[in-house]
Amino acid sequence: MIPFNDLRRAVAARRPEHEAALARVAESGWYVLGPEGRAFEDEFAMAVCGGGHAAGVASGTDAIELALRALGVGPGDEVVTQANTCIPTIAGIERAGATPVLCDVEPAAGTMDPDSLQGALSPRTRAVVPVHLYGQCADVDAVRAVTGTIPIVEDCAQAHGARLRSRPAGSMGTLAAFSFYPTKNLGGLGDGGAVASRDAELAERVRLLRIYGQAERYVHLEHGINSRLDELQAAVLRARLPHLEGGNARRRAIAAVYDAALAGTAAQPLARLDGRVHAFHLYVVRVPDRDAFQAAVETAGVQTLVHYPRPVHRHPAYTSLGERVPLTVSERLAGEIVSLPIFPELTDAEVEQIAAAAASAAGSA
Ligand SMILES: *Cc1c(COP(=O)(O)O)cnc(C)c1O
Repeated sequence: MIPFNDLRRAVAARRPEHEAALARVAESGWYVLGPEGRAFEDEFAMAVCGGGHAAGVASGTDAIELALRALGVGPGDEVVTQANTCIPTIAGIERAGATPVLCDVEPAAGTMDPDSLQGALSPRTRAVVPVHLYGQCADVDAVRAVTGTIPIVEDCAQAHGARLRSRPAGSMGTLAAFSFYPTKNLGGLGDGGAVASRDAELAERVRLLRIYGQAERYVHLEHGINSRLDELQAAVLRARLPHLEGGNARRRAIAAVYDAALAGTAAQPLARLDGRVHAFHLYVVRVPDRDAFQAAVETAGVQTLVHYPRPVHRHPAYTSLGERVPLTVSERLAGEIVSLPIFPELTDAEVEQIAAAAASAAGSA
């Protein structure tokens, strides 16, 4: 069975770099907020966001929370995001103390629909969080045309290395949240995240908030939390960062093989929008009969997953979020989409097998 992902392969492919990174930290005697983390923040901001500042934090969820808190968002404020996302986006908004409000996505690619966003805004809206879903940037320019001066926090957890009209994901919002969860395009050997911003003061505020609001030892200026990227993860991420672009190029090459195999079948890949460089965190297709498609692909030896089988407001915990605007596109997509394996370490033979399995299943689905 070809697995949806196999995280061991990325380690095996670069064992000496991983071992050197782990040993360097173990022997340094400094494990939290040290030289590896600082070096990674600078390298990451430059390589992935094209400049600006980054603050390492403990997860992508924390990155969303701390980005919002740095903006002063809190209780009584509303933050709008899209209904077709994973729950961490919502959890980060809630952890900031704010109330999440959902808008719909556009049907071609599943990214934020600016018209629906317009309807979801209220006088209490203090931030908007577009998600660069599956590795493709939301149209931040169209979102900004609607939000005006309301700050945008990009959710870049699936989009390390993606671009919109030549600008990198993470460079367009007032702040941006990244996750280094192991399956992400840039992932560690555990949890991690970062907040990026062009605004040095906002980045500095995140650095305060991530360590209990402490400016210098035992001097606390704000009410913060404990959310830090530890030195081991930072060292591993530094070892992996130079290979992000190559990994993304491999993902795009795999996507091209799937595109060619699926052309003219009932399985339609989500649209590749103009002016985007796709990072292909996920390769998502729409099929008329998902259960039959998944069963046929699995019989041919390939694991598939669904991202995501229900929109946010269809989870028992979040039914009350579906009230402000219609979320019909998110609901329809959730019933039709399915993801094929697309990690860089897939062999060419596996890619061919996945493409053939999907094409034949789409013929029968
Ligand atoms: C992974 C992910 C997150 C959260 O990241 P964690 O590091 O798991 O907290 C947030 N938003 C999106 C879209 C994600 O894919």
